[in-house]
Amino acid sequence: MSPASNPYAPTATTHALPSYLQADKLGPWGIYLQQVDRVTPYLGHLARWVETLKHPKRSLIVDVPIHMDDGTIAHFEGYRVQHNASRGPGKGGVRFHQDVTLSEVMALAGWMSIKNAAVNVPYGGAKGGIRVDPKKLSIGELERITRRYTSEIGIIIGPTKDIPAPDVNTDEQIMAWMMDTYSMNIGETATGVVTGKPIHLGGSLGRREATGRGVYTVGVEAARHIGLQIEGARIAVQGFGNVGGIAGKLFAEAGARVVAVQDHGGTIYREAGLDVPALLFHVKQTGSVAGFPQAEALAHDAFWGVDGDILIPAALEQQITEANAGKITARMVIEGANGPTTPEADDILRDRNVLVVPDVIANAGGVTVSYFEWVQDFSSFFWSEDEINARLVRIMKEAFGAVWQVAQDNQVTLRTATFIIGCKRILHAREMRGLYP
Ligand code: NAD
Repeated sequence: MSPASNPYAPTATTHALPSYLQADKLGPWGIYLQQVDRVTPYLGHLARWVETLKHPKRSLIVDVPIHMDDGTIAHFEGYRVQHNASRGPGKGGVRFHQDVTLSEVMALAGWMSIKNAAVNVPYGGAKGGIRVDPKKLSIGELERITRRYTSEIGIIIGPTKDIPAPDVNTDEQIMAWMMDTYSMNIGETATGVVTGKPIHLGGSLGRREATGRGVYTVGVEAARHIGLQIEGARIAVQGFGNVGGIAGKLFAEAGARVVAVQDHGGTIYREAGLDVPALLFHVKQTGSVAGFPQAEALAHDAFWGVDGDILIPAALEQQITEANAGKITARMVIEGANGPTTPEADDILRDRNVLVVPDVIANAGGVTVSYFEWVQDFSSFFWSEDEINARLVRIMKEAFGAVWQVAQDNQVTLRTATFIIGCKRILHAREMRGLYP
């Protein structure tokens, strides 16, 4: 049968992407699309379904009006994007940040689809956010914006539909408000609607540390493959929040020296290694690493040139670019953040023999323990922290081992290898389910 007469042949043309998807080609969504293009030649017959990964299933933009403490009414823009649901309900965090855009949320949702498939948890990918600087809100305003946003996206989320979790500037308290708001709206307590909740509200032991622990676990595995000793290794960390702070702490406990840390407030350096517990305490007290007494301050851009063995970007997207990739001295980059490296920078690092352990496997520990939390909520039976950590480490090691093998077999980067595994799982599910109607 010729392709023209075969109804199941790949379509020669697909409809052009809508303008909001084409816009911002250099932004996070454009980067995600480039990453999908890079993996397409490795997808075999499943490549005919690849457009499915380039079109988010459902994108919701919501207006979030709230009463401010000064009596005014303010409107914020919120988003929830369900990128793919072929393998299960949507899953992905909620970000509160002044730079959140639809393009960013779409990309983050796309990366969640790949990541969830790479570690084989039974979820699709989703993400949400509000364009707001939460540091400028009072606690009451923060609660009101969270509750109104949850009500607005309540029409598409739910324990079997789409399950939000924490991301940048959102935490256990915000998850508790989201769970409560959703529960009030449906008339029953639904703990499984979000993960990353406080322990006494159906949260899981080990969830808070899970992403950092996953970063550490795959970092150690990757280091072993390239013969890099963790003990004494010099580490630079960008972003010292949930992910970067915990990863830095675990590497320091394993004998590495965390020599440089950068966050939104400043950059600090100590040749002999920073006292990580003291730094975490300082951040808790002051909100930033800036002004930490036992360190020298560095200029913002000097961070990328710090002499080190391991670099952990754990803040935001598009931090490692053409402009600074050439300065990086580390042998290995472990992406705690989502999307921190642009495709051009990826190429520069590959050519310079710097191993990049990509976000879609490196930071998958968070969603893995979110999955454990969701399972525990459904069964109302809770596991011990040791049990959770052991299961997490096992899944991360196995998933990373598979990624390493695919990279060797195909002579591709770890990012392309993770995309090969993730995309094949998603597209296989898509193919088996078929299109309805
Ligand atoms: P967080 O809010 O706890 O911490 C963010 C950190 O980034 C803070 O230290 C902040 O000061 C720093 N930062 C913000 N803007 C910066 C800038 N311009 N330059 C340098 N530092 C800056 O957030 P988090 O949960 O640790 O998330 C960090 C990254 O990890 C994000 O990319 C997020 O998507 C990703 N991630 C988080 C999880 C999770 O479970 N929390 C899971 C997977 C991936």
